[in-house]
Amino acid sequence: MDDHVANEAISNGTSHSDWSPASWRTKSIKQSVNYEDQAAVDRSTSKLRRLPPIVTSTEIWKLRRALAEVAQGKAFLLQGGDCAELFDYCNDQAIDSKVKLLLQMSLVLIWGGNKPVVRIARMAGQYAKPRSSPMETVDGKQMPSFRGDILNGYPPDQRAIDPDRLVQAYFHSAATLNYVRAQLASGIADLHNPMEWHLGHIGDPELQQRYSRIVESISESLRFMRTVGADTAGQLETVDLFTSHEGLLLEYEEALTRKLKHPSNRNVPSPPKPAPRVSPLTGGALINPSITQEPEVAGYYNTSAHFLWVGDRTRQPDHAHIEYFRGIENPIGIKVGPTTSTSDLTQLLDIVNPRKEIGKVTLITRYGEGKVDELLPKHIESVRKTGHTVVWQCDPMHGNTRSTTSGIKTRSFASIFSELASALRIHKECGSILGGVHLELTGDAVTECTGGSQGLQDEDLSLRYETFCDPRLNEKQALELAFLVAGSQRG
Ligand code: PEP
Ligand code: MN
Repeated sequence: MDDHVANEAISNGTSHSDWSPASWRTKSIKQSVNYEDQAAVDRSTSKLRRLPPIVTSTEIWKLRRALAEVAQGKAFLLQGGDCAELFDYCNDQAIDSKVKLLLQMSLVLIWGGNKPVVRIARMAGQYAKPRSSPMETVDGKQMPSFRGDILNGYPPDQRAIDPDRLVQAYFHSAATLNYVRAQLASGIADLHNPMEWHLGHIGDPELQQRYSRIVESISESLRFMRTVGADTAGQLETVDLFTSHEGLLLEYEEALTRKLKHPSNRNVPSPPKPAPRVSPLTGGALINPSITQEPEVAGYYNTSAHFLWVGDRTRQPDHAHIEYFRGIENPIGIKVGPTTSTSDLTQLLDIVNPRKEIGKVTLITRYGEGKVDELLPKHIESVRKTGHTVVWQCDPMHGNTRSTTSGIKTRSFASIFSELASALRIHKECGSILGGVHLELTGDAVTECTGGSQGLQDEDLSLRYETFCDPRLNEKQALELAFLVAGSQRG
């Protein structure tokens, strides 16, 4: 530990007295990085420590409160973006198309669920990728795997780990979010403006009609609100959009973790205690047991994004990533898959959320369409027994990846929707709530997943196969998925 870390550990005023932003360094770690030039890493991390936060604690708590609503079924969560975000995607066209797509999808989901939608982009920092092997074969040549723009580049001559990229990640993240904020403030999400929905590609007249009716219903509601002047608070002018990424590269996350004063209105509900306490001071009046009152004045915030998640490969309860995640105030996600045991799952919740704060943790389930029926009910039941109230989010992408006969990684729209529809049904059957969806998507017209209304086949994938990691839904497939989910929500 260097001096800075030691000081941090001493001044840690939170209840995690044995935690510091660097305490993950004492644990075993998966997906570790072998930096050859340690001096260059130190230069990058000390630069990162001096740079200002990308997001603030006030914004982080705004999202935490919104996720507490999601956990209780009062709002729905839409999270989406690239599998691997490239520094190159930091341009106005790519950002605009993704923001517009998320906004349109969210309107459809509001219509479907009849509740507010919380939007989180996998964007402005989704630069680190876990890989199953340190080496891969590209065009018949063996080379170090692409680990995301924060570590190395995709072109074969850029595969060496370059510690300068940690700082480049910060600036691309900040530039992306700066543009998103500016566009939102300038009216990109202004619901006073008509939107283009582009439904012309839908060949099936019945489907075309069904989606058009939904769009018409949304447009009519918006027209009505404008006509009756329901926008006195300017709520139609813009929306909230939060950012997220996988918290994989802990050197980066640590350097952007700051001890900050909590915002004043940060309270979120905790699960009610079994027996309500009675105040001796008020002569028997109930103390509201559902509000967490925390004595500390400051906590540790990861200021690189509003929301971070732990991936399926790095969620071992006694390893470095969970050690890091248990100390931050941000809302966090944990990927849950076929290899997650129920005992690991419940242990993880107790480690990262000992106070059982509602909506602090989002469980992002990704089993695959063939396994969700067997595994999800068991996980729902085991979490219920712990007394934790989580956000259950379905990631129908990562359990449904397959290779075509010519070796292209793809996913079929039908499998993706099938897992999502199963998750909706299973939560209902179990008396639980599917709180949201987690999707890999892009606002561009790529051809990476098969199926959907355009009827993309395996042979079409080479037309615009542009992902540098997992296959994404294109803008039409993503919107169609939102229509289908909305349809199922309406029953
Ligand atoms: C991802 O979300 O891109 C990812 C790698 O997912 P998982 O950790 O669930 O495999
Ligand atoms: Mn992915």
